[in-house]
Amino acid sequence: MGSITLQKVSKVFGEAKVIPSIDLDINDGEFVVFVGPSGCGKSTLLRLIAGLEDVSGGKIVIDGRDATETAPSERGLAMVFQSYALYPHMSVRNNIAFPLKMAGVDKAEIDRKVADAARVLNLTDYLERKPRQLSGGQRQRVAIGRAIVRQPSAFLFDEPLSNLDAALRVNMRLEISELHQQLKTTMIYVTHDQVEAMTMADKIVVLNRGNIEQVGSPLELYSRPRNLFVAGFIGSPK
Ligand code: ADP
Ligand code: MG
Repeated sequence: MGSITLQKVSKVFGEAKVIPSIDLDINDGEFVVFVGPSGCGKSTLLRLIAGLEDVSGGKIVIDGRDATETAPSERGLAMVFQSYALYPHMSVRNNIAFPLKMAGVDKAEIDRKVADAARVLNLTDYLERKPRQLSGGQRQRVAIGRAIVRQPSAFLFDEPLSNLDAALRVNMRLEISELHQQLKTTMIYVTHDQVEAMTMADKIVVLNRGNIEQVGSPLELYSRPRNLFVAGFIGSPK
């Protein structure tokens, strides 16, 4: 579970060829970071994998199944949005339980799964609060909790920390890395932040104008960048 393969995947919006053609293998359990400048197609690529956009060409294979023919809800993936995507009028408990309620899971199982997720994320004491009564980091953990309860074969994060302040970002970065070590589930993490990429990734995918410039471990990209773009991007924090 959790392997994702892209074969000649392309995406066109009107006249704009945002993703010309991408081939990529993501292995089960890997922490993969998509990094690149704003507008290079990171979110589009993630949305194609999640099924929130249809591919214009090529194929996405998830756990051996052609995702192009699989509804987004059947792909076994959970997307984590920024923390402001929480329902403000619902308690933490109900925010986390929401996807399970939608799926018709029975109450005892919902309670058990919410309790498990809350334990992993240190939210047990906050379950009856509303999002506005939480810190930014706690809200982000609730957003992650909503993904965890679905036991996805992969988590997809789109710049989940970009609206947190710098100190909190460092904390959350460590928490997400620890979560990955605990769950050992595939994670795809989109960021334009080189430091996040270098510290969190097993494998970094450097994107530029919808093309992959290089794929490799942080060490490989740092010590053997294929071109000046990669060297500049990985080498110089902005
Ligand atoms: P990133 O996440 O790396 O900042 P995006 O994937 O959001 O980049 O966008 C890549 C390019 O595709 C941008 O030029 C953006 O304007 C364009 N784009 C993204 N979504 C749409 C859309 N729904 N319609 C038209 N153009 C889009
Ligand atoms: Mg984006």
